[in-house]
Amino acid sequence: MTDGEELTLADEIVARARIHAREVREEYELAVDLGALEWTVSPRARRRAGLCRWNADSGVATIVLARRAYDHYDWPEFAGIVRHELVHAWEFQHFGESGHGERFRDRAGALEAPRYCEAFAEPRYVLRCLTDGCDWRATRHRASTPVKSPDQYRCGACGGPYEVEHAESGRTWTTAGGYGGAKAALGDEW
Ligand SMILES: [Zn+2]
Ligand SMILES: [Zn+2]
Repeated sequence: MTDGEELTLADEIVARARIHAREVREEYELAVDLGALEWTVSPRARRRAGLCRWNADSGVATIVLARRAYDHYDWPEFAGIVRHELVHAWEFQHFGESGHGERFRDRAGALEAPRYCEAFAEPRYVLRCLTDGCDWRATRHRASTPVKSPDQYRCGACGGPYEVEHAESGRTWTTAGGYGGAKAALGDEW
């Protein structure tokens, strides 16, 4: 039985990631306990291609993979992201903690996995000119002052006003007050 395409794609991502994890365990002798590892797919995540959560009480590591990253990357690159998260899972299982320190770097290097989670970074904010006929557009990863106070800056092409969009929610604002309101309204979703 199937619950539609959404589930099918998530199932496909998890199935491929699991197969790859078994290959990695054997080929690179990464002593990760796949039986104590859970997989899930985030349909919404835009900033991080993957992450690994650790429940110290249950000893279960959960690897979360972003569906958008699966769409965005070719499989060899996405497989690198899977290996990156597997190194986190391995660290959690053996040391109860994980980061991007020397131990992580060595392992990730041996697995030919990217060193940082941030490999996948869709812009968090999109700046868009409001002048008719001007298609100026810029992106920002951080809430810099042009993001927080668009009323103090101008379009980089025509000098007109622009709006800022919070890419994940689609909320837009054109003033510092609007930024504050959007941020407050979104709360944890920010
Ligand atoms: Zn990482
Ligand atoms: Zn413009």
